[in-house]
Amino acid sequence: LSFGECDVPQKLLQNIESAGYEIPTPVQMQAIPAALAGQSLLVSAETGSGKTAAYLVPVISRCANVRKELSVTEKKPLVIVLTPTRELCIQVEEQAKVLGKGLPFKTALVVGGDAMAKQIYRVKSGIEMIVGTPGRLIDLLAKYDVELDSVSVLVIDEVDSMLQRGFREQVMQIYRALSQPQVLLYSATVPVEVEKMTSSLVKEVKVITV
Ligand code: AMP
Repeated sequence: LSFGECDVPQKLLQNIESAGYEIPTPVQMQAIPAALAGQSLLVSAETGSGKTAAYLVPVISRCANVRKELSVTEKKPLVIVLTPTRELCIQVEEQAKVLGKGLPFKTALVVGGDAMAKQIYRVKSGIEMIVGTPGRLIDLLAKYDVELDSVSVLVIDEVDSMLQRGFREQVMQIYRALSQPQVLLYSATVPVEVEKMTSSLVKEVKVITV
């Protein structure tokens, strides 16, 4: 599989090329087509495997297609990406900016350490993807009214580390605020707790190991 064979917008292929990605990494080869087909996934992938682009490529493609079909004036978020740390959220957002350039793909960062008022303003300004840590996103949702009914994809990155940090209940709470989203779980290791969390989120999941 090459990137060109993926059913994604031309502009996204150009961005992939500009980023210097020539061939998909093994995890991308498996995860991109499955995610584009709408499947929920549990992917065991470590940092350095290209896991971030493995979920960003299908997510950006989905957003571009949705926005093309629905010319809504008030844009509601379409995707939520959860990661365990502020630093990882920042890295994900940086990569999203590179890959989503020139496409209807704006992001809002919802992490600790910055003013919540500024973050909610960004969330409500018409963005496609929220990238956040579970604790801060819960706080934001408790304080402000954010419409999540258009969110159709939930990405949970570094699930193992998320559980180690005790974020399980917060992740579940965010999931419950959504209406049956496609769920893309990424984890370096897959201990039984990660499997349990996966089965409590999705009935049918495709497991990808590389
Ligand atoms: P990650 O595993 O998501 O932390 O990505 C590790 C690094 O690989 C990042 O710097 C990406 O920009 C880069 N990368 C992702 N996909 C590819 C690819 N297909 N070819 C070359 N580099 C890539």
